[in-house]
Amino acid sequence: MVIGMKVAKFGGSSVATADMLKKVSRIVLSDPDRKFVVVSAPGKRFDGDVKVTDMFIELGESFLNGQSVEPVLNRIIDRFHSIVHELGLPDGLLSEIKDSVWAILKDDQYKSNRLDALKAMGEDSLAKILSGYLQSLGHQAHYVNPKDAGIIVSNEPGSAQVLEESFERLYSLRNRDGILVIPGFFGYTKEGNLMTFPRGGSDITGSIVAAGVRADLYENFTDVDSVYCVNPSIIKKPKEIKTLTYREMRELSYAGFSVFHDEALIPAFQAKIPVCIKNTNHPEKPGTMIVAERDATNGPVIGIASDTGFVSIYVSKYLMNRELGFGKNLLEILVDEHISFEHAPSGIDDMSVIIRENQLPEEKEERVIKRIKEELKVDTVSVERNLAMIMIVGEGMNSTIGVASRATEAFARANVNIEMINQGSSEVSMMFGVKSDKLEPAVKSLYELFFQN
Ligand code: ASP
Repeated sequence: MVIGMKVAKFGGSSVATADMLKKVSRIVLSDPDRKFVVVSAPGKRFDGDVKVTDMFIELGESFLNGQSVEPVLNRIIDRFHSIVHELGLPDGLLSEIKDSVWAILKDDQYKSNRLDALKAMGEDSLAKILSGYLQSLGHQAHYVNPKDAGIIVSNEPGSAQVLEESFERLYSLRNRDGILVIPGFFGYTKEGNLMTFPRGGSDITGSIVAAGVRADLYENFTDVDSVYCVNPSIIKKPKEIKTLTYREMRELSYAGFSVFHDEALIPAFQAKIPVCIKNTNHPEKPGTMIVAERDATNGPVIGIASDTGFVSIYVSKYLMNRELGFGKNLLEILVDEHISFEHAPSGIDDMSVIIRENQLPEEKEERVIKRIKEELKVDTVSVERNLAMIMIVGEGMNSTIGVASRATEAFARANVNIEMINQGSSEVSMMFGVKSDKLEPAVKSLYELFFQN
């Protein structure tokens, strides 16, 4: 009888080669609680390598442009060939992949979701390979298609969202025998069409499965020993985080921590499933635990996240505070123009709206500014590009006096001007806007102040 139930999800680098898949199998087989395995598509094997998902996207684009798909299909098959061959599995798996690709390209049923169906092939093929390999080692393992698993999603190609009814369906997977290998990154609409999650979305599948089967633990295997308190490309060997809360992880991954897709944790979070981030290459290390609550032993700040690529629209109008509906009207213009915003700090006579750069291409900017001027009769409106956001995150912040003053001191020490401050309403985070070229010195100075003293 199984006592605990774990969902183990393996990311792209963990399944990039046959050797890695052998490590994955050892990890899965070393703990009988690891009943559910969710996999990504093979990722990069070395710097400059191409992810299998990107190859499938290239294949789809070649097809849509009327070019031959053979060259890229051959490269894809080559990649799978070396994996299948080194694992000693039959070649039949390769012709299966080829046949499925041709079916997706030719079959009318894929007319509306062809690209999604192709993109999902990386995960789907790998799940079949891994379950085949576990069987070849003499274990009871099964490939489970997300449709059979019960993962029902919205009809949004490339950015599907899970529907609530999935969780109940997934629960019945607990009764199945053996190790269940489920491909990440996609589900099916109610009508039965395959839809993918946003890029990096295998984490989302892992989290959905963990919530659905009510796992005791969701293990997310990747290529780092733990989550670090700051981006290791800015600070060498930063402090490792042993335990953090869901809210902290969500805030950190939103602002540039690339460990997780930033929406990925929500299903696990809502179902209160503890999450552990571990390294496939060092499974004996404890990794980082993500839990609902933690004791406040680490000081008020647990991590510093940062990301570039923001724009700010600044508007000012005398007596704005008295004008009923000003904020709503401003945001309504953005809704009209299909622009989503990230933050909106405001003052008495002015307000800024912070947007991701990709939401406001230059050609849209002119029109938006004109509309704001004419429709809202503002005194000034200006746009500032090349902004970076730095976020300090920690559950302890709301009960500690002086965090903001220490943070601003760090900016002053680094001689960096703060363009904007926004204290998240949750009080788990505080956000600072700076010019992109000042991001590094500012983060270094914050790290020194909060983590090295
Ligand atoms: N294979 C997908 C991607 O490259 C999803 C994932 O790996 O999580 O985005």
